[in-house]
Amino acid sequence: MHPDWGEVHSECDDCISRRSVYLTFDDGPNPLCTPQILNLLAEYRVPATFFVIGAYALGQPELIQRMIAEGHQVGNHTMTHPDLSGRGLDEVQREIFDANAAIMMACPQASVRHMRAPYGNWTEEIFAASAIADLAAIHWSVGPRDWSRSGVGTIVDAILDSVKPGAIVRLHDGRPPPDQFGAGTDAGPRYETVTALSHLIPALLERGFQIRPLPQFD
Ligand SMILES: [Zn+2]
Repeated sequence: MHPDWGEVHSECDDCISRRSVYLTFDDGPNPLCTPQILNLLAEYRVPATFFVIGAYALGQPELIQRMIAEGHQVGNHTMTHPDLSGRGLDEVQREIFDANAAIMMACPQASVRHMRAPYGNWTEEIFAASAIADLAAIHWSVGPRDWSRSGVGTIVDAILDSVKPGAIVRLHDGRPPPDQFGAGTDAGPRYETVTALSHLIPALLERGFQIRPLPQFD
């Protein structure tokens, strides 16, 4: 963990040994993959936190509504998913506030408590804007690079090899819009993630982990 990241949570305390694990999904909602992930979570009755892109939330309000109705948390992953490194507080604040507004417009019952920086690139301005918006900064401790098309087995093994009580696992149910250079982070939907999740959830439960909603950190 970065030594200066005092304000960001990469894992959660598990001091009462509940073997808690936290599933998080970035860059959605996506009309193809998010419903499949929600179906799997429902099948196993486990909660997750979706760090959604505000612009996508506006386009898929029914998926935000479904997340909330099915007991999941919706977190803030900015409005348009820019790399906020080097951006001023005004711009950072606008990205974060606009995303909160988009989520609330999609689902007025949503209560947004968590923030994840695009690409995990945290800055003082992001911490400041998150604090103003009363959002806890959430990184991850297990990130199996599910976007890299390394294969379902690789994703599952990477998680099971490194997961421990308190771990925050970061997966993806969507992908960010292309950046200003026209380069997306990959091509294609998240089929590997969906299939990996279908193996991962029962494997975690068999190992005695309890999949829980993220704490509120306040
Ligand atoms: Zn992202």
